[in-house]
Amino acid sequence: LELLRTAMPWFGMDIGGTLTKLVYFEPKDITPDEQDQEAEILRNIRRYLTKNSAYGKTGHRDTHLQMDNVEIRKRRGSLHFIRFQTTDMSNFLLLAKQKGMAELVTTVCATGGGAFKFENEFRQQVNMKLAKFDELDTLIKGILFAEVQNPTECYFYENARDIMKSEKRAFDFSKPYPFILVNVGSGVSILAVYGPDNYKRVSGTSLGGGTFLGLCCLLTGCNSFEEAIQLATKGDNRKVDKLVRDIYGGDYDRFGLTGDLVASSFGQMHIKDKRSSVSREDLANATLVTITNNIGSIARMCALNEKMDKVVFVGNFLRVNPISMKLLAYAMEFWSNGTLKALFLEHEGYFGALGCLLQFNG
Ligand code: ADP
Repeated sequence: LELLRTAMPWFGMDIGGTLTKLVYFEPKDITPDEQDQEAEILRNIRRYLTKNSAYGKTGHRDTHLQMDNVEIRKRRGSLHFIRFQTTDMSNFLLLAKQKGMAELVTTVCATGGGAFKFENEFRQQVNMKLAKFDELDTLIKGILFAEVQNPTECYFYENARDIMKSEKRAFDFSKPYPFILVNVGSGVSILAVYGPDNYKRVSGTSLGGGTFLGLCCLLTGCNSFEEAIQLATKGDNRKVDKLVRDIYGGDYDRFGLTGDLVASSFGQMHIKDKRSSVSREDLANATLVTITNNIGSIARMCALNEKMDKVVFVGNFLRVNPISMKLLAYAMEFWSNGTLKALFLEHEGYFGALGCLLQFNG
């Protein structure tokens, strides 16, 4: 049993409102001795996870995010990043059972609301105890670890003021403090981070990634986040929103508001003619712009309040979503007259799960 415990695969799990994130550490420095002792079940699980990149209906391994040659508790290996929809949890548990997980009495580190919600299912179906950690603690731990391990983890957009020209560039985040952290998941949490173990949650909004996806599905009939983003890429929010120029005929000079600023999100949609001339793409784009700008605006007020100039955006809302990242970069820069900087991290949605894995003490 002791052997099993020490050889136990290292998992960190973040069971969120929409997506479950699983980070798996694959030791690469396995000695021949360990190889002999490694239970067959474990070997099979390791092979299954690392040889595939799709699992079940919604499971994916983000191979582009894999981190190699990482040291965790004196072991060297690779970190694998896997996600699936939280609504598929029962399938995940079934799969885990089929792979023999239930035979290994064990504990998995978990965070996110689902660590509470699904605790009984884990115990009953796969004989797993969940060691629960707070999602904001693990989020920060994960970010700090990734930043140290991966020199190109953090980036910003150069020429943020011109969205057509703005380009991704590496940012040196080795001296991170203090910073505002905006986690855009299903909902949004905003933290002020003063030091590695010193932060507070300063704000949040329920208008988050879940709102974007939900509204987009309602308005366009799309069925996935990827589809929603694709539609948004081809649409134009100006056909949906009421701009300053739609109201003023031009700029509102006195307060420096240019004509092409959005004065009212979806503000043209009460007009029947306008409504009948918008496309699904326009509606998707307007939804994305509305949600993104609202988050940007709240984040900016938090930065102002806390007198901080770095605003780090994470969460899966930013997955495959350069429109929002560029818009956030633009909004931070523009509305602060260049004093605020929007920063982004490559492992965007996985920090909670990663931080959780680091809590493993086997
Ligand atoms: P949570 O922990 O609340 O699930 P995440 O950080 O995982 O939060 O982000 C969830 C959000 O990410 C969704 O609301 C959606 O906007 C976006 N998203 C990105 N990829 C997907 C996907 N494949 N399926 C569903 N939502 C996705």
